[in-house]
Amino acid sequence: TASKEAEKRGWHLYLVGGAVRDLLLAETETGTLMINDIDLVVDGFHKSADVGAGVELAKALQQIYTNARLEIHGAFQTAALLWHKDPELDSLWIDIATSRTEFYPYPAANPEVEASSIRQDLYRRDFTINAMALRLTSPRAGELLDFFGGLIDLQAKQIRTLHANSFIEDPTRIYRGVRFAVRFGFAIEQRTEEYIRYAINSGVYDRTSQANTKTPALQTRLKTELKHILEAPYWQAALELLDNLGALQCIHSSLSLDGDILQELHLLKICLRKFDKQYNLQHWQLRLEVLIAHLEPKYRAKVAKNLQLGDDSIARLKTLSEMQTTVFTSLPNLQSPSQIVNLLRKYDLQTLILIAVKSPRKVRRKIWYFLTNLANIQPLLNGNDLKQLGYKPSPLYKQILDDLLSATLDGIIKDEAEAREFLA
Ligand code: ATP
Repeated sequence: TASKEAEKRGWHLYLVGGAVRDLLLAETETGTLMINDIDLVVDGFHKSADVGAGVELAKALQQIYTNARLEIHGAFQTAALLWHKDPELDSLWIDIATSRTEFYPYPAANPEVEASSIRQDLYRRDFTINAMALRLTSPRAGELLDFFGGLIDLQAKQIRTLHANSFIEDPTRIYRGVRFAVRFGFAIEQRTEEYIRYAINSGVYDRTSQANTKTPALQTRLKTELKHILEAPYWQAALELLDNLGALQCIHSSLSLDGDILQELHLLKICLRKFDKQYNLQHWQLRLEVLIAHLEPKYRAKVAKNLQLGDDSIARLKTLSEMQTTVFTSLPNLQSPSQIVNLLRKYDLQTLILIAVKSPRKVRRKIWYFLTNLANIQPLLNGNDLKQLGYKPSPLYKQILDDLLSATLDGIIKDEAEAREFLA
C-alpha cells in the first residue's frame, strides 16, 4: 500500500536500514523473521513542495489503516505509524523519512540525482550492513541498492564503517558496532577497529562528557545504546568487547573491566535470578549502576547525570559510599532479625543490591537474607486494629506497630491473637 501511495505521487520509496539487513540475513538462516521496526525513506521528488513527502505518505496510510497512530516530527520531516499490540500485527512501528533533497540543487527528475539522493541518505548511516536500501516502488521494485558493499560484509560477517571519521563524528556508533558484532557473531573489520581506537585515543570521553551541555542528544543516544546492550542476552560479551576496544572510556575515562567489577556483575546476575520474581527490577539499569558504582565515589553522580539517568539513580550513586560504610560497619554486629530490618529498611532495593555486590560474603548473606525473608514481613495488626483495641490515633501508632513488627520478626509473637495479647 505504501509503495502504491508513493507511486501515485511520483515518488520512490525505499526500505532502509536494519530491516534490509535482517531480511538479507534471514535468507541465509532458518527460522522465522520478525521485523517490528521498519524504516522507509521517500525520495525522488518532482516538486520542491514535496519535501514533506514522508509526512504526507504517513498521513495517506493512516487514512487507510485507521487503527494506526500517527506521530509527526516536524523538524526532521519524519513521521511514524504505530500499531500497538494489534492482535494481527502485534506491535509494529513504521518510520517514514524524507531524504534530504534540499542538499541537491539539481532537478530531481534526473534519475542519477535521485539515486545520489538516496545514496547520500545511506552514506550518513553507521555501517555498511545498515546502509542498504530495497526499492519498493516501480520501476525496478525489489532492487537492492548497495553502494558500499553491505551485502559482501554480511556474507563475510563483518562490521565495517563507511568512513574514517565516523566514530569521531558520533562515538555512540562504537557501541552500535559492538552490539551488532556480538548479536550477529560478526567481527569488527580491521580498519574499522583502527578508526574506533583512534577515536577513543583522541579523547572521546572528554567530548561525550562535555556533550551534556553542548549536545545532550549525544548523551541520550549513548544511554539508549547502553540500554540496548545491557538488556540484551549477550550483554556480557558486548561489555567485554567494549572494554577490549577501550570504549568504556566513553562512560568515564577510568572505567575498565577488572576482576572486581566482573565479580560484582556476576553477583548481580545471581541476585537478579534470586529476586527477579519477587521484585520488579530493571536489569539494564542495575548493570549500569554497578559499572558506575565501580568508579571512585567523586565521579559517580556526575557520570550518572551525564548519562541522564533518573534522579533516584543519581541520588543513589551520590550517597552510595556513605551508605555502604554504614552497612559494612553495622551489619556484621547485628544478630536479631529486627535489628537487621531496622538498619536495612532505610535503603531502597537497588541500593541494597549495589551494596551487596560490593560486600564481603558475610555482609552480603545478611542482605540477601533480609531481602528474601524479612523485607516483606508486615506487623500482624494495623492502625484499624489499634483503634478497635482502644488506642487513640496518634504518632505513637507508628512506634507501636514497629514494636509489633520487631516482636514478630524475632519470633516473640507468632499470630494475631499473640499480637493482641502482646499489646494488652
Ligand atoms: P535494531 O534491529 O537493533 O533496531 P537497526 O539497524 O534497525 O537495528 P536502529 O537504531 O533502529 O537500528 O537504527 C535504524 C537505522 O538508522 C540503522 O540501521 C542505521 O542505518 C541508522 N542509524 C541509527 N543510528 C545511527 C547512528 N548513530 N549513526 C548512523 N546511522 C545510524
